[in-house]
Amino acid sequence: MSDENAMTGRGLNEPVDVRDFTQRLPGVIFQFHRDRQGHMHFPYLAGSGTGLPGIDREALGRDARHMLDRLDEEDYPRLMAAIERSARWGIPIATKFRLRLSSRRHCWVALRAQPENAPTGVLWHGLMIDITEQMIEEARLRRLSDTDDLTGLANRRKLLIRLNEEIAKSHRHGTPLSLLLLDLDYFKRINDTWGHLQGDQVLSELARLCRERMRQEDIIGRLGGEEFAVVMPLTPLVASHPLADRLRQAIAEHDFGIATGQITVSIGLAEYRLGEPRDALIARADRSLYAAKHQGRNRVVS
Ligand code: GH3
Ligand code: MG
Ligand code: MG
Repeated sequence: MSDENAMTGRGLNEPVDVRDFTQRLPGVIFQFHRDRQGHMHFPYLAGSGTGLPGIDREALGRDARHMLDRLDEEDYPRLMAAIERSARWGIPIATKFRLRLSSRRHCWVALRAQPENAPTGVLWHGLMIDITEQMIEEARLRRLSDTDDLTGLANRRKLLIRLNEEIAKSHRHGTPLSLLLLDLDYFKRINDTWGHLQGDQVLSELARLCRERMRQEDIIGRLGGEEFAVVMPLTPLVASHPLADRLRQAIAEHDFGIATGQITVSIGLAEYRLGEPRDALIARADRSLYAAKHQGRNRVVS
């Protein structure tokens, strides 16, 4: 007999009180039934998770709506579709969703369930586990991998992902989309004169200015070094050009803590053309930026 079993006075293979055991499980085990009319309920529900606030076992035993109604509105259709697929093809459900426990408290739940055809409909056997802590940690890591350390803006990887998404939307709906590329003028000189640390300070201050100046729906990122990009959804050139020029002017007039007027930027703009590959759009904005540099810097070219 091990020490633990010695404490309960039971041998390793001696039967346990199953009811007591399942009630102590850290999670929920269940049977979920959907009849031919689509009515859903939990014939069986056990585990410590059933003691959470807002979980009413009795009610769920009659109607699963008591839980489904508490699902996040984004997750609800996803879970319903997973149930439908599982019932139709006899494949297991493996999904996760947010569940409202009270007006202030949500939790993330991972669900796994195996379907079985029953005379009355479909019966699933499954388990649910609270994964709130993992999801918070995952979100924290995702934020880290998406963010530029120095400026807190989206990094290059994230910006290109968002640009892809906005191009897809623009393509689908025929809506305008502008891409802005921004490069600091003679930044090497700033570094050489004031030092690299001061240069870094200018970069993060510039990021702050961009965030302040651009609109909520614009996506601002640091492409690398002293180059930034702004994706401007629903914005044709006629609108993005004046916006870009106001940003350029605000930067030129801003006090970065080194002689005012020292920090200027050149901006290249391009508007998405239907069907154009992403890199072609970037190349056109880049050519505009190059032209802005060539024409004397501290200007916007589109
Ligand atoms: P131009 O007007 O043609 O853009 O001139 P420039 O000197 O800004 O351009 P160039 O591309 O030749 O040099 C960019 C400089 O930016 C080189 C480097 O010293 C500086 N730089 C790049 N990344 C960082 C950074 O993270 N921190 C700091 N402080 N400087 C950086
Ligand atoms: Mg550069
Ligand atoms: Mg530069």
